[in-house]
Amino acid sequence: MADATPENPAQRLADIRTEMAKAGKIAQRSPDDVALIAVSKTRSADEIRPLLEAGHRHFGENRVQEAATKWPELRAADPDIQLHLIGQLQSNKADDAVALFDCIHSLDRMSLLTALSKAMNKAGKQLPCFIQVNIGEEEQKGGCAIAELPELLEAAKGAGVDVIGLMCIPPADVEPAPYFALLAELAARHGLKQLSMGMSDDFATAIQLGSTHIRVGTALFGART
Ligand SMILES: *Cc1c(COP(=O)(O)O)cnc(C)c1O
Repeated sequence: MADATPENPAQRLADIRTEMAKAGKIAQRSPDDVALIAVSKTRSADEIRPLLEAGHRHFGENRVQEAATKWPELRAADPDIQLHLIGQLQSNKADDAVALFDCIHSLDRMSLLTALSKAMNKAGKQLPCFIQVNIGEEEQKGGCAIAELPELLEAAKGAGVDVIGLMCIPPADVEPAPYFALLAELAARHGLKQLSMGMSDDFATAIQLGSTHIRVGTALFGART
């Protein structure tokens, strides 16, 4: 997919918007219901700027450290930027994450909930969070086990942390649709409205199954080297 995309990032953005609209139409959803998060991990400020100039405002990073080196300067020029943390977060980086980001997609365990809650109270800044679910029950993957989701949700409520939805990364190299459908079902069961699911290769499927936040890197910026 990356090879077939045009050179110009603004044109890639327009092409993805077109694909998003097509997928949304099949599912009878409005294009406004789905946020496109441009995943800018490993990309330089110079690679990011053309998207900002094209009016794009939602970006995703997977490392606190990397985000801290790139974003404060880009943000200073553009107060409307929304920065999403999509990667695993160590509890000892919770303060930095709360200072840098506007939304956390990777809340996945009790110890991190405690750290984030403390960090948010200290900063006086409440970030909306997604709970990441290990939807394929994969040994090596981050994410809360499906069986532990109710307990984590209950604890978040008790801690006053604003959980707005669920996030997943389905197993690689298999059809993702059943996993997206399962995440949507879990969210509905718990009255959660937002779904962070779908990446470069599968965002159209994810939109058809209810995604509200797609996270797209390669299809926007080209292959990561
Ligand atoms: C890198 C990454 C993406 C983007 O993946 P692409 O295949 O490049 O679109 C999405 N979500 C998470 C959590 C990631 O780490």
